[in-house]
Amino acid sequence: MNYTQYFIEFTYLAASILFILGLKGLSHPESAKRGMHLAEFGMLMAIIGTLLSREIVSYEWIIAGLIVGGALGGAMAYWVPMTAMPQRTALSHAFGAFAAALVGIAEYYNYTHGIKPVGDLTHLKMGAMGFEIMLGALTTTGSLMAFAKLQGMVRGTPLIYKGQNIFNMLLLATTVGLFIYLIFVPTAAVAFYVMLALAFIFGILLVLPIGAADMPVVMSLLNSYAGLAAAATGFVLSNNVLIIAGTLDGFSGFILSILMCRAMNRSMTNVLFGAFGSVAISAASDGQEGAMREVSLEDVAVQLAYANQVVFVPGYGMATAQAQHIVRELADILEKRGVSVKYAIHPVAGRMPGHMNVLLAEANVPYSSLYELEQINPDFPSTDVAVVIGANDVVNPDARDNPNSPIAGMPILEVDRARSVVVLKRGKGKGFSGLENPLFFKPVTGMLYGDAKDSLTKLVQAVQHV
Ligand code: NAP
Repeated sequence: MNYTQYFIEFTYLAASILFILGLKGLSHPESAKRGMHLAEFGMLMAIIGTLLSREIVSYEWIIAGLIVGGALGGAMAYWVPMTAMPQRTALSHAFGAFAAALVGIAEYYNYTHGIKPVGDLTHLKMGAMGFEIMLGALTTTGSLMAFAKLQGMVRGTPLIYKGQNIFNMLLLATTVGLFIYLIFVPTAAVAFYVMLALAFIFGILLVLPIGAADMPVVMSLLNSYAGLAAAATGFVLSNNVLIIAGTLDGFSGFILSILMCRAMNRSMTNVLFGAFGSVAISAASDGQEGAMREVSLEDVAVQLAYANQVVFVPGYGMATAQAQHIVRELADILEKRGVSVKYAIHPVAGRMPGHMNVLLAEANVPYSSLYELEQINPDFPSTDVAVVIGANDVVNPDARDNPNSPIAGMPILEVDRARSVVVLKRGKGKGFSGLENPLFFKPVTGMLYGDAKDSLTKLVQAVQHV
């Protein structure tokens, strides 16, 4: 090994260590930013190492790719709002997976068109390459479909038809069958391209029957597939850092999917094949009896000002309204008056894991004021006012009380046990699951209609005059 080779290996080792430290940092809001920077630095090391590789014959295409990719990534980071983060992530997965698939296809072409000796296309190499291409292709189209659903370009609710699961299973079995055949007969080009086409089709069909509310789970599953495809690319190219980074990505995505399923009390099979949302409306407590009680701003201001304990419960509406800063301002005013203020964080509030933590951290809300579901639920009976800020599904008591509800068993923030509940929302809009929420009809609940940021801004002024 010459010095350049030693240096490349060093950058790869450093990058791998930095990725692991980065992931560890990301596991807590306080260290998340540092974790992100460590991972970024790791990626820089990996890129530098790769650019020194002696397999590179010319730099023109690489520079062009860096410019186009950098410009696209920069523009997306700058312009895409936080609320559209799930769609943005879906696009990134599609790009990553497509890159992995393209590398695999190019390698296969090299071996089968005499550019590399076909004798080197061993069963093991074909196994890694087939795995990479299969996962890469289905993740590309699956992620694009997820993007289209989340962006509202395709209907968000599940698209289902009779025999769908059986058809999908047969398609998957045929694709995997071709993959296995290729391991034994690597030069069977027709089988190769048919497998590729079927994998592209399977990606679309996999995501079609999945309901919008389950999309984040599917996305992190697709993230996991993209990671595993990258790891397989690492085997094909004999690139250690790609194997390590892809494996970390693959398994962290998988663990995240499991955690999300747990937070919603659903099994992975139910998410993937249950077509959630297609029957939801009819099975739930729609046709809810009674009326919602509207409360005035002044009324809420008095309740808050004279409370001993207030719990803020943020949800997706706080994110769309960008109301995190004004919540913090209101909390500061209340605390100055001697009110104890806490924030209740549901693991799937918002549209991605940790969504509320990120927003509240941006508004400098101290981490010590954030309480997880298990910590805060016992506190609600002694809470004077629970203020629900654009949250809906995560405070739906049907999940606890109605065994026929599609979200039955999902752990919720039990705000209905507080002495008084104030719900800030714009109107009678439903949550992500499309279900009616009996909380809004309970005698304990008052509805304060309006955009969350506007209502909170007015509340800040009103509380100061109490
Ligand atoms: P949600 O159930 O989607 O409800 C959001 C509520 O915010 C709506 O009822 C809407 O009512 C209100 N709203 C929207 N814009 C608003 C604004 N500008 N001002 C005030 N209110 C506004 O939200 P959630 O309770 O946070 O629940 C998250 C959902 O996503 C759950 O179904 C969860 O299972 C799903 N999910 C999340 C994740 C994750 O990782 N976070 C993963 C998987 C699934 P109006 O239209 O009447 O205003």
